[in-house]
Parts: sequence; structure tokens; C-alpha cells
Amino acid sequence: MSDYPGYEETIFSKIISGEIPSTLLHQDDLVTAFRDINPAMPTHVLIVPNKWIPTIDHVETEDEPALGRMITVARKIARDEGIAEDGYRLIINCKEHGHQEVMHIHMHLLGGDRVGPMLIRKK
Ligand code: 5GP
Repeated sequence: MSDYPGYEETIFSKIISGEIPSTLLHQDDLVTAFRDINPAMPTHVLIVPNKWIPTIDHVETEDEPALGRMITVARKIARDEGIAEDGYRLIINCKEHGHQEVMHIHMHLLGGDRVGPMLIRKK
């Protein structure tokens, strides 16, 4: 897409369209949620906007409904998965320093055990 030079749509667009299979947990007009292919925790779900937005740095005001929906869908899935009472972590990585590997905004929902400290401290 010429709007975002250097970025291209990713495999997540094909998961959203159903072209590539995934374990789909939720889909509506704004967002899609599916299990991470390589789970880091007993529950590891990715919640993505249906619209391709490469990174949080590309978000516009018009994207606020989708970003808000990502949170309410995370809450619903956490309850469905039975992890809401003990708690969980939501993570959105951004670009290289944030360790983002797939250039389509995605929120990680991680739980089912203690996630541990937020960061590995370098100092
Ligand atoms: P990031 O490091 O970009 O924040 O996280 C990317 C996540 O996408 C990783 O946790 C990775 O396991 C997951 N992932 C990459 N490719 C696929 C795929 O084809 N299907 C699914 N379900 N998850 C994927």
C-alpha cells in the first residue's frame, strides 16, 4: 500500500479473510481474534483490527472504534477462557525496538499462569 512505504499486508489479512486457517475465537465488523500459532502461555490469543494497520505508529483517529473493540473483545475472551479472575496481560508491540514481527497491529492476550515481570531489565 502506497500510504505505508516499506510495509506490506501480512498473513494476518489472510487469516481475517479465512483464506488461511486459524483457531478463530471471535470475529465481528471491526476485529478478529484467533489463537497464536506458537503460544507463550496456556492462553495466548491475538486480537487484530480487520483493517490492515501496520503498527501502532500508523493509527489514526478514525481507528479508535477498532482499537476500543480490541479491548472489549480481549475482556470477553479472557472471561470465556476462565482467566479473568486471576488476571492476564495485554501487549501490543510496535516496530523494531518493541519487537514487533508481524506488521499488522495485534494485541496479545496472555494468561492461564503468572506472566512474570513485565520486562527483562537491561540495567
Ligand atoms: P509480535 O512479535 O509481532 O508481537 O507477535 C507476532 C505473533 O504472531 C507471534 O506470537 C507469532 O507466534 C504469531 N504468528 C505468526 N504467524 C502466525 C500465523 O500464521 N498464525 C497464527 N495464529 N499466529 C502467528
